[in-house]
Amino acid sequence: MQVQSEFTIIGAGVAGLTTAIALQQLGRNYLLFEQSKVLTGIGAGFGLAANAMQALEILGLRKEVELIGQHLQHYNILDQKGRILVAPDTKALSKKYNQQNFAIHRADLHLYLLDKIQADHLQLNKKAVRFEKNNDGITLFFEDGSQHKTRYLIIADGVKSPLRQQLLPAAVPRYSGYTCWRATIDNSNISLKTGSETWGKQGRFGMTPLVRNRIYWYACINSTANNSKYRQYSVADLATHFADYHHPIPEILRQTQDKDLLWNDIIDIKPLKHFAYDAILLIGDAAHATTPNMGQGACQALEDVAVLKKVLSQHSTVETAFIAFEKQRLQRTKYITETSKLIGEVAQWENPIGIFLRNSIMKKLPAQLAQRNLNKLLSVDFMQL
Ligand SMILES: Cc1cc2nc3c(=O)[nH]c(=O)nc-3n(C[C@H](O)[C@H](O)[C@H](O)COP(=O)(O)OP(=O)(O)OC[C@H]3O[C@@H](n4cnc5c(N)ncnc54)[C@H](O)[C@@H]3O)c2cc1C
Repeated sequence: MQVQSEFTIIGAGVAGLTTAIALQQLGRNYLLFEQSKVLTGIGAGFGLAANAMQALEILGLRKEVELIGQHLQHYNILDQKGRILVAPDTKALSKKYNQQNFAIHRADLHLYLLDKIQADHLQLNKKAVRFEKNNDGITLFFEDGSQHKTRYLIIADGVKSPLRQQLLPAAVPRYSGYTCWRATIDNSNISLKTGSETWGKQGRFGMTPLVRNRIYWYACINSTANNSKYRQYSVADLATHFADYHHPIPEILRQTQDKDLLWNDIIDIKPLKHFAYDAILLIGDAAHATTPNMGQGACQALEDVAVLKKVLSQHSTVETAFIAFEKQRLQRTKYITETSKLIGEVAQWENPIGIFLRNSIMKKLPAQLAQRNLNKLLSVDFMQL
């Protein structure tokens, strides 16, 4: 079988779509395969911090994404009664990259990225099930029985990545200990102006305004994995669970319909030792899925692509470019996965004495110390690491 494309990308999420755009910009030949039959854009919202906006700037996409995103001036951590525990100085953070922080609906970002891709370079309803690597290329096998031969394979098929699990059978998703509901609702009756996350004894509740007068909210509750009780949970159950939480949480839940509720157990993968395997590269969640506690999963996927574009344009072979990518990305993404896991463990405490002590300490911490993790993340230039 002849090689049919120089690059093949598996997975059309943020990582895969943006990689396709970067390869297009470099004039490289690629095909993108996605398992879904249609890409209408699913999910709720996510934050695009200043580092993600910088990555988008490098890819020439920042200005247009700003138009579909909601500028976030503040993002506070609150206690159950709505009192501020930490108020990160987002302006100082933005200054480091000279970029603002945004929140965006996942579907809006996906559809925007999709629109940039040449239609004949994307094949839908193509679930990759395995690959075989020979001296003359890599053959991909799809669930529908078809095959595709490529010179280089970029695996961007998300946290559960079946292709990563073929490459690294031990790298299976690990459960965080908490489960999460999300939805996007209308903001007309609530008029939410700022983003916040509330740490209470029945779990966490986050909310952020979005463009077109919408709110993105999420709620995390401690649980065993794939808990059958929570699988049945409706908005009314969540409203009862969070009934003691401050305004506007009960109101947000009252305004949410069951049909708009998304539910997932929160998982990540233990940091990998490698992302590059000769002609194969792992990127995005397939490479370094993290818990959402630092709001950095998609941001890191965007950083990946900015770095990948740079190394591909600097190196004479793709294999050495992949190694350079790995060198630049491994430590940074490991730091995020580990720090985010730790933040999640502390944020999900249920013991009232532990919560009292944690909250007292958080309130007294100087702002600089409280946002140390974010500062560390944003103070380094990910393009120069
Ligand atoms: C509750 C929650 C909140 C979050 N909040 C934030 C936030 O505030 N900020 C932030 O930056 N990130 C956040 N994230 C993380 C972010 O959503 C992910 O990191 C990001 O979407 C990963 O993008 P990806 O393209 O790597 O993977 P995915 O978005 O998972 O895309 C993978 C794609 O591959 C396809 N696919 C899978 N298997 C196959 C196959 N075998 N063959 C073909 N196609 C396949 C899938 O259908 C999918 O389209 C959050 C995540 C969660 C769960």
